Amino acid sequence: MGEAKNKKIITVATTGAWPGKENNPNVPIEPEEIAGEIYECWKAGAAVCHIHCRDDRGKAAMEFAKFKKTVDLIRSRKDCDIIINLTTSGGVNLKEDDRIRPFAELGPEMASYDCGTMNWSHSTIFENNPAFLEKLGLLMQEKGVKPEVEVFDPGMIYNAQYYLKKGVLKAPVHFQFCMGVAGGIKGSVKNLVFMKETMEEVAPGSTWSDFGVGASAMEILYAAVAMGGHVRVGMEDNVLYKKGVLAENNMVFVQRARRIIEEFGYEAASPGEAREILGLK
Ligand code: ZN
Repeated sequence: MGEAKNKKIITVATTGAWPGKENNPNVPIEPEEIAGEIYECWKAGAAVCHIHCRDDRGKAAMEFAKFKKTVDLIRSRKDCDIIINLTTSGGVNLKEDDRIRPFAELGPEMASYDCGTMNWSHSTIFENNPAFLEKLGLLMQEKGVKPEVEVFDPGMIYNAQYYLKKGVLKAPVHFQFCMGVAGGIKGSVKNLVFMKETMEEVAPGSTWSDFGVGASAMEILYAAVAMGGHVRVGMEDNVLYKKGVLAENNMVFVQRARRIIEEFGYEAASPGEAREILGLK
């Protein structure tokens, strides 16, 4: 574990549910584009890829065939051992079975677990009701899939505490602090300190990663590294590389995160090292 302490996991989230070609023409949408970017991001230092897919119109969807094609393409690159993490939340008004099917049938090592319901970006309800979260957590255990517990505010950390006590989640939990989404907690160092301390109080021994969307991206990235966390980057969370500059691709985010990690004196974890840190396999 001593060695692993100096290794920081870079997760790349290439696509997400929302950004389209109209926001940034470089957002990968088709399975071939997504898998191609993930392969290049792995070469650049990403250990985990968090995957969303889109339908033929480029809109958020949980279409099983798109997930299967994307995962198959990644796995067809025999040298690439990146950890696959599938979303369970790609869109609105989804059927629970459609949210579950990709991770249940495609055997990724991880899948997202959004630990509460919120008003998403003043536009829609991001629904993760109690019955669904219980079903999801137990099914992930049954399938041997590690939840990436996404929390958008401190209340969701307390939800995780409840599900831990109930056995729906198992320790050690891996948290993703998702910050700066309207309807959730604002991205700031002060808020990140509070999220981390709350997590340590209610779920000691957990691992954590974070990202900030939009304007909070850099503050949260640097703070995560300084505070000993892991990081998530990519166009799901930011289509701009910096103010006024569209990202050319997802690799530029991974390369920047790696530079920051290395300048700090850490190293980017390989997928194998990330498996050890996260307790996979
Ligand atoms: Zn996602």
